[in-house]
Amino acid sequence: MSLIVQKFGGTSVANADRINAVAERVARYKKEGHQIIVVVSAMSGETNKLIGLAEEIMETPDSRELDAIVSTGEQVTAGLTALALINMGIPAKSYAGHQIKILTDQAFTKARIQKIDEKVIRDDLDKGLVVVVAGFQGVDNEGNITTLGRGGSDTTAVAIAAAIKADECQIYTDVDGIYTTDPRVVKEARRLKSITFEEMLEMASLGSKVLQTRSVEFAGKYKVKLRVLSSFEANGDGTIITFEEDEKMEDPIISGIAFNRDEAEINILGVPDTPGIAYQILCPIADANIDVDMIIQNVSRDGTTDFTFTVHKRDLKATLDILNNQVKKEISPREIIGNDKIAKLSLVGVGMRSHAGVASKMFKTLSHEGINISTISTSEIKISIILEEKMLDVAVKALHKAFELDKA
Ligand code: ASP
Ligand code: MG
Repeated sequence: MSLIVQKFGGTSVANADRINAVAERVARYKKEGHQIIVVVSAMSGETNKLIGLAEEIMETPDSRELDAIVSTGEQVTAGLTALALINMGIPAKSYAGHQIKILTDQAFTKARIQKIDEKVIRDDLDKGLVVVVAGFQGVDNEGNITTLGRGGSDTTAVAIAAAIKADECQIYTDVDGIYTTDPRVVKEARRLKSITFEEMLEMASLGSKVLQTRSVEFAGKYKVKLRVLSSFEANGDGTIITFEEDEKMEDPIISGIAFNRDEAEINILGVPDTPGIAYQILCPIADANIDVDMIIQNVSRDGTTDFTFTVHKRDLKATLDILNNQVKKEISPREIIGNDKIAKLSLVGVGMRSHAGVASKMFKTLSHEGINISTISTSEIKISIILEEKMLDVAVKALHKAFELDKA
């Protein structure tokens, strides 16, 4: 007997038929003798609809009320899922976040889970019930309903799995696992049987939008065994997210290629190479709540240097405004250039730690395709580059082939 958390995303609970299919799957596991906690998202499209309604009433909705509104989506699916189980003769009970005390901080719309009181869940499981929990929501210490950020039901599932020490946390979605890259770009892309938690974090934050990044961080911190599977297939092992030290098999050097078309690059040329320059540039940008991703500073020449960073495309204009209106007069750069016709590509693999030559193979492959790289940054397990957006597909295809990611 195992203790399993099963999380079903929006497309998996999109209508009554789908909810019945979820209940059947849960019932099957239950009959095999497992204890099951189900976490559900809102029906697909529902959260957007609720936000839209709120915005019809108030342009920028009050965040406490917005959380009260959007949390209802998950409460509906939790109740319906429990109902479907009861209807099949499986005893079940649904809970909203505040009822099982998923305690969060007070950051409405992006709250962080602080504690989960697992006693209620434990008691129900011991009585033989399936516990169904509304994802995406919690409660602060004053009793206000909070939500965990878009895609937050993943984090609810992982946090419950951590609190209750589940044997596995299964995330059911509309894809059957994590792929070597986006199959829409490379048709030979292959489902990975396993990926390490650190690689997944790189793949998730780089735009492989299968799991909320925060849920992966949570899984890493509390060593929750995560598995991504399709709720549209009867069987299938999906992709298991493991910890590097647990890996016994010979690992591939590269596990996947992640990419992202959402970023824009900013080059600040000819800034004085003096202490505090990075701070002077980036501080006003952080103050405006703009997230900066890659940051690169060149080696200096003649006392000046070039400074490059990336932001989300939607923040490009605001960032350039800050630089031109506030920062420029302090640091007198030669030129400030913004470019949103770029993409970011990353080669990800823990095998890079112990293998030399990955970078040279990558750059050789790209040069054969005549692809110009504007910026490079590396970590222990990834190499990221910025390139022209129109060359992205060619680059991903060429690298996928060069690193033989199509071969198991
Ligand atoms: N329903 C929420 C959203 O659409 C949370 C989730 O689905 O995980 O973002
Ligand atoms: Mg999701």
